[in-house]
Amino acid sequence: MEITIRKTTAPRVKPSDETGLGFGRSFTDHMFIMDYTDGKGWHDPRIVPYGPLALEPSTMTLHYGQTVFEGLKAYRTKGGDILLFRPEKNMERLNVSNERLCIPQIDVDFCVKALKTLVDTERDWVPSSEGTSLYLRPFIIATDPFLGVHPSHTYQFIVICSPSGQYYPEGVNPVKIWVESKYVRAVKGGVGYSKTAANYAASLKAQQEAEDAKYTQVLWLDGVERKYIEEVGTMNVFFVINGEVITPRLQGSILPGITRMSVIELLRAQGRTVTERAISIQEVYDAHTAGTLEEAFGTGTAAVISPIGELNRDGEKIILHGNTTGPVARALYNDLTGIQSGEAADTFGWTQRV
Ligand SMILES: *Cc1c(COP(=O)(O)O)cnc(C)c1O
Repeated sequence: MEITIRKTTAPRVKPSDETGLGFGRSFTDHMFIMDYTDGKGWHDPRIVPYGPLALEPSTMTLHYGQTVFEGLKAYRTKGGDILLFRPEKNMERLNVSNERLCIPQIDVDFCVKALKTLVDTERDWVPSSEGTSLYLRPFIIATDPFLGVHPSHTYQFIVICSPSGQYYPEGVNPVKIWVESKYVRAVKGGVGYSKTAANYAASLKAQQEAEDAKYTQVLWLDGVERKYIEEVGTMNVFFVINGEVITPRLQGSILPGITRMSVIELLRAQGRTVTERAISIQEVYDAHTAGTLEEAFGTGTAAVISPIGELNRDGEKIILHGNTTGPVARALYNDLTGIQSGEAADTFGWTQRV
């Protein structure tokens, strides 16, 4: 399929202050769109000026949430090149989400090519200050104008781009995490492993209450026993106990993060033991009491590595690594951002040049 490109006649002014970009607030001049119709498949891939979508109020995705998304970043190297980090993993995961949401499969190679073509069109929008990037948001929506509860027969795959600032303008700082005991995010058999809107709709209330209590994000426990650790907000979570790196195993209710996967591969290549297993919140608190809880951190595309400085479980607070960034989190942050920005050798072959 040939991707057609229609350039805007009214290019926007690019932000001059890259440090104040924040996250997800401004968008570039163009977007990628591709349509799907039953019997015809995916067709008409195109790059067009960024702008509002014309949708009927009956559009299915607006009512029943048949939609999936992804999130990845394009990084500017010191030499001016642009790198994507494991984009094929995002497109493969999109297909896993598609399968769960009854959305047709996409062609991974073609969609990686589409991402690259869009980023190439928006080259000048990729910021170059340290820690900045161009955030890419691919997503698919069900577009049938129909109010029956049924998978749609038509879809749109869209990619928009948002220049994003440094996640930690004052350096990597530990976050305070609220251990959620009232609400649950997902259960086995549900849609927890898919990147789909429903998971985020289900999380808003807990997130709001955590913020009201001055916590950054919530740590989700399993939906059945409220005992085992799942993940943190929009990040997977790791604990270092007695030298062993432990992360909850993937069993259907947790989002399989690409940063998580990369952290596991990186640590194992460095000779560290990483265990994917069930870990209860009690085990973490017991390890803290025993003095063997060394550090904890979250992993995700947005912050890459986010050290956890405090946990609060029903008012019982514990401070981790003296509320400072631990050595494992710090080394991982440096290693991963080094590869992503082209500063460090990419021995795993994780980056792709645009
Ligand atoms: C996207 C996401 C993650 C992190 O995935 P990455 O591929 O590492 O960015 C973790 N948890 C949830 C709920 C997510 O939506």
